[in-house]
Amino acid sequence: MKKIYLDAGHGGADLGAVASGLYEKDLVLAVQQYIISFLSTHYQGFSLCTTRTTDVFLSLNERVNKANAWGADVYLSIHINSGGETGYEDFIYSKNINNQTIVLRNDIHDHVKFVLTKYNHSNRGRKLANHSVLRRSYMPSVLTEIGFIDTEHDAKLLKNPQFLKDMGVAYAKGVAQFLNLEPKSTNPLGDSDEEGCPKPTFLYKPLWIKTTEDTETYKDANMSERTGYLKKNTLFQVYGEARAAWVIDGQHFIEKKDTIIEGETITTAELTKENMETLKVFVTKEKLETAVTFSKEGAAVAIITLRDKKILNVKAFLDREKWWYKAERIKK
Ligand SMILES: [Zn+2]
Repeated sequence: MKKIYLDAGHGGADLGAVASGLYEKDLVLAVQQYIISFLSTHYQGFSLCTTRTTDVFLSLNERVNKANAWGADVYLSIHINSGGETGYEDFIYSKNINNQTIVLRNDIHDHVKFVLTKYNHSNRGRKLANHSVLRRSYMPSVLTEIGFIDTEHDAKLLKNPQFLKDMGVAYAKGVAQFLNLEPKSTNPLGDSDEEGCPKPTFLYKPLWIKTTEDTETYKDANMSERTGYLKKNTLFQVYGEARAAWVIDGQHFIEKKDTIIEGETITTAELTKENMETLKVFVTKEKLETAVTFSKEGAAVAIITLRDKKILNVKAFLDREKWWYKAERIKK
């Protein structure tokens, strides 16, 4: 079983790079989610561990210690730059360069190059640096900087979910190539396998979930083998679902009956008259009228508050229309 460690930079009070309403800590989590979805849908024979799947802070040492203790085969750290320049770059440790690290970096970089061409995003190249997570990790490790948050061209890309998804897919393919992961042969979605264990469907975007009981986590959707334990009121994100279970981190399952979906408020960027009409048609079709308000103070924006899975339909709609929006969990 190959072990992949993903390190979404920053988190919690550490926002990372910030500009024009964009936060590095959120963007890297989105990219990480695309990596997880793609790997889980297309490959088998690996397990995955992350620094964080939620908005929490871990120190650089805690990140590396977690990966080292787990015995990861690959360490991928995801970041966004700032400083007014433009383009993508990735780093490996500048001293004692290990051959496998070079191979990993090249596998990733070679897939990323296609995305850079597609979006006319410049390539700042394969670089060396003495970053602490690269220095202290035991396994082949790469740190990537996707673009500059405070540059107009790059910020526009970072606001485009399709770009973030393409980057995530490129990272996933690079890591899969390096680890020589086995592709999933059959349709991973929906069908049951021989033992009658329901296979999960992957969600379009993660959902925020909270436990309503002290509850167990399980190895599969049949919930036959325990893997751990979550306390009541634990908040986490799920990336997939089977009929009666949510999938956590692509490797643990939790019974739906012991959880509730946390509400989210989505605020769109300013909408044109035409946008408003398109959105009104959508909310009518989806029966979301009561969930949507339009604000007209200065800018016309829509605020959509939902406490169920329809939140995913709304995000899919906004992504399809390529409208920028901000999603926030409703904090009570
Ligand atoms: Zn960073």
